[in-house]
Amino acid sequence: MLGQRAVWKKQIRADALAKTNNCCSICGQSAKRLVCHDKWKYDDKRAVATLIGFEIHCGDCDAATHPGLALSIYPREKTEKIILAQLCKVNGCTKREAKELIAKAAQIWDGRNKKDWKLQVEPALVRQYPELAALPKFTPPPMTFVI
Ligand SMILES: [Zn+2]
Repeated sequence: MLGQRAVWKKQIRADALAKTNNCCSICGQSAKRLVCHDKWKYDDKRAVATLIGFEIHCGDCDAATHPGLALSIYPREKTEKIILAQLCKVNGCTKREAKELIAKAAQIWDGRNKKDWKLQVEPALVRQYPELAALPKFTPPPMTFVI
């Protein structure tokens, strides 16, 4: 969401990679492709989304974190297998339970997509990266969940 902003590329991603020693924050895997994921806390009653931090994801964990997006970009059958396998591995659950997790997340996301969200950034993050105070208004992208 923060796109190609200079602070994102030069500082935040580098800091997050250093913090995890160039490994995935979720599964611990060291991968060629590592993504800097922005973490948000959602206050659904007030429709306020708060940027609370950053973490490093390997490609598989990032796909499992954003299944709708991953399935819309990458080859469907292969991506679905990767997402379910990663959810099962990380959560120690069955394929059926992983599908239930995705369905529940999709339901929450659908509800959130119907609101006009106000953005804010955790004060500690603004102190660390002052450029984040100027984040544009956030509109969650539409997602599709077909698993
Ligand atoms: Zn991972």
